[in-house]
Parts: sequence; C-alpha cells; structure tokens
Amino acid sequence: MSSKLGWRVISTYFLLLLIGLFTIHNVLYNSFMASEMDQRIAPLLERSQQVSKKLESLENLGFKDKEWIKALAPFDEDKERVRFLLLDSSHNLLSDSYNFRQQGENLPLELVDSVINEKSFQYRRYVNTKGEKLLYTGYPVYNSQEDPVAIIVAMTSLGEPGEALSSLVRRITIIGLIFIVSSLLVYFWFLRDIFSPLDRLEEGVEAMTRGNYSYQIEESEESELSPIVRSFNTLGSRLGDIEAQQKDFVSTLSHELKTPIASMKIITDSLIQAKATVSNEILYDFLEDINSESDRLKDIIDDLLFMASLERQDVSLNLDVRPITRALEESIRVMQPLADQKHITITLEYQEKFFAEFDYNKMKQVFINLIGNAVKYSDEGDEIIIHVWADKDRIHFKFQDNGIGIDAQELPYVFDRFYRVDKARSRERGGTGLGLHIVQQIVNLHNGKIRMESLNDVGTTVYIDFPRVYEV
Ligand code: ADP
Repeated sequence: MSSKLGWRVISTYFLLLLIGLFTIHNVLYNSFMASEMDQRIAPLLERSQQVSKKLESLENLGFKDKEWIKALAPFDEDKERVRFLLLDSSHNLLSDSYNFRQQGENLPLELVDSVINEKSFQYRRYVNTKGEKLLYTGYPVYNSQEDPVAIIVAMTSLGEPGEALSSLVRRITIIGLIFIVSSLLVYFWFLRDIFSPLDRLEEGVEAMTRGNYSYQIEESEESELSPIVRSFNTLGSRLGDIEAQQKDFVSTLSHELKTPIASMKIITDSLIQAKATVSNEILYDFLEDINSESDRLKDIIDDLLFMASLERQDVSLNLDVRPITRALEESIRVMQPLADQKHITITLEYQEKFFAEFDYNKMKQVFINLIGNAVKYSDEGDEIIIHVWADKDRIHFKFQDNGIGIDAQELPYVFDRFYRVDKARSRERGGTGLGLHIVQQIVNLHNGKIRMESLNDVGTTVYIDFPRVYEV
C-alpha cells in the first residue's frame, strides 16, 4: 500500500530541495557578479584617474582649447571594451570615446551628480533596455579651487557568469538529483514502514467516525508507531465495549420495566377471568402483589432518574464543608427501622467528627444505599459495623456486614448498571441492580474511591475514602 502521508512528506522535501537549489544558484550568481564588479572597477578608476590628472595639469580648464583632446588619448586604447564620456558639471557632454549616442540613450546623470556632491569617485550597476548589465564609474576632474568641473564616466558591460558558473550549477543539479534518488531509496527502505501505519491509522479513524468501532489496525512489524497503533486498537475495542454496554443497558432496562408490568397484567387478567368467584381474601392478596410490583417499578424509575441526573455532564453538586459523620449518623437513623425488622444491629465507631466538602443529600444516598445493601443481604440477627477514621488527607469509611457475601467471580461486576448477583435473590430482597452504580458515581464526583471485599457466606466489606477538609 502506498503511503499518502509519505508522499506528502517526500513532495514537500523535493519542493524544499528545489527552493534550496534555486537559492544556491542565486547566491552563486550574485557573488559572481559582485566579484566581477570588484575586478572591473579598479582598472576603470585607475584609467579615469590618469586622464583626470592630465586634464587637471592643463593650465586652462575651460575646455575651449583642443589641448585637452590630447589628454583624452588613452581613451582610444580602451575603445573595444570601455566607453569613456566626459561631462562638465552642468551635464554637457564634452567628449564621447564612441562618438555616437544610441537612440533613447540616457546619460548617467545621477552618477555625475553624486560625484559632484560627494567630491569623489562613484560607481553604479545598470541593466539597459536590452538586458545588458553595465558598470559605470564616475571620476572627478578638479579645478585649482578643488571644485569638480568635469566628470569622467567610464562604462563597460559586465560579462555573464559563463562557463564557470554553469558548470557549478550543473554540479549542484547533479548533487540535487543524487539527493532525490537517495531520499526515494531511503523512503522505500525505511520511512515507508513508518508512514504506512499512519495511513492505516487515518483509515481507522475514518472507520471509527462512521461508527465501525471493531476496526483494528494490524500490527505488521514493531516500529516507532507501534504504541500508537496499539493504543488505537485498545481505544477501538473500548468504544466497542461502551457501545455494546449501551445496547445491553437498553435491553436490560426494557426487561426490568417489563417484568413488573407483565406480572401486574397476569394478576389483573386472572382477576377479570375469575370475576365473581374471587373471594375477598384472594382479592386482597392480589392487590398486595400489584402494590408491591408498582413499588418496584417506582423504585427502578426513581433510581434511573437519579442516575440520569448524575450522568448529565453539568451535574451540579451542592458542596458545603460539614462534618461528614453527621450525614452518616442521619443515614443510619433512616435505615434503623429496616434493620430492626430483621433484628440486625448497626454499630458506628468513630473517635471524632471529620469534615469534608460534600453534597449532603447525595452523600446520604451513598450511605443509605450501602447500609440498605448490608441489611438486604444479611440474615436475621446479623451485625453491621461501620468504622470511620482519618489520616492527614483523607477520611476512610468501612461498612462491614456478616451477611450472605458475594462470589469472587461476581465481585468485579457489582458496580455495573442492573448487575445483580442472583437476580431472584436480589428481586426478592427488593433490589434494582442500580444502587452500587449510583454509589460509585457519587463517590467519584466527590473525588472519592470505593472498593469492595466479599466472601460467600462470610460477609461483605465496602471501603470508601474522601479528601479531608479541616474546619475553618
Ligand atoms: P441491588 O439494588 O440489587 O442491591 P446494587 O447495585 O446495590 O443492586 O448491588 C448489586 C448486587 O451486588 C446486588 O444484587 C447484590 O447481589 C450484591 N451486593 C451488594 N451489596 C451487597 C452486600 N452487602 N452483601 C452481599 N451482596 C451484595
């Protein structure tokens, strides 16, 4: 499989390489031109200086006398390569070694001005309309008052870089090509292995966006990206699990809601069929059954609504700093009558009241659910011991019962929604399978931790802890 990302990287690399080559070419060209200029300026100025000296030595610098023409004689020697102009300070052309002006040709007047202003030689680079690169130097001729009265302008065309540069460019191009070929080889040998999992990762993410959580990237060989690939696969299966749990939840929920309704339906059907033959006693028995089924339905719906309120993202806790032990005492008071019915004793052990920042009603729900479970899943005359203690940072709770306990295999699932160890048993004891899930949610919302230990027929212990706060 070809790697899209890999190609993207390779083409960016080529582009950068081309920009690099282009830059190198420009730098070379410019430095060539600069050195060409340096070489050419010196002789032009030297020659201009000689002429200038000769002109200055003439007695009369009015240029009326043809005397000065002699002074310009050295110009002729340079005719082939250099054109000399002599201008006076008012821009009048006094002499031109080429003796003609090209059509539309402008005299380099700014150069003349800058020689006059600076009172020393100047040079400029020009490109004329034909694209020819020209070098101009200007050299002053002074009168006896040290004022520049005339300017000698020398012009020559700068050569093109020619063979030297083009062979360099050729060499650079070859090196560039070698780079391209070798990077292709490196890519195919080595980088492709790195990039191709990225492509598969991209495909995987696309598949996941379409809802295909079962998409797994096959791990061909161990590479730098293997940990990412593994994390992706784990993520995929987790999402898959969550989706399955969601579907499972809906079907369990429907079942849970249907069961009490179905039994009420059976009861009422049989009552209707039996009509007048039903004795009052049986009628009341049936009514009691309907009553308890509707209680059950109400319990499930209450738990569900409470759970939904906890799962909402914006769940707002009514946080206050208070003694958490007071919430516990109040919860025990609420549950006491239920325990008394089964002659179960509840013992609370703690040395001092501990403070925490918590939502009073939600925390009471935690304690009531845990004590309720301990009562529900204990037998007549059993005992529940609640122990509270604290260290510097956290408050710890231990809810211990010596009831029926939970099988070790079942223990990891008791916090799941609707999970009941023994459906018949839990139902008979009035459970919905949502209690511990709710407890766990509330504990998590308070930055708490919860865990459970249990042994069949020995009893169950639930441990919780919360961050401790000191009274202000
Ligand atoms: P339920 O409403 O059915 O009690 P929970 O979520 O509170 O649901 O508990 C899940 C299951 O864990 C229960 O069905 C029960 O079998 C088991 N369980 C919870 N607490 C105890 C306990 N203290 N002793 C024995 N089993 C328990």
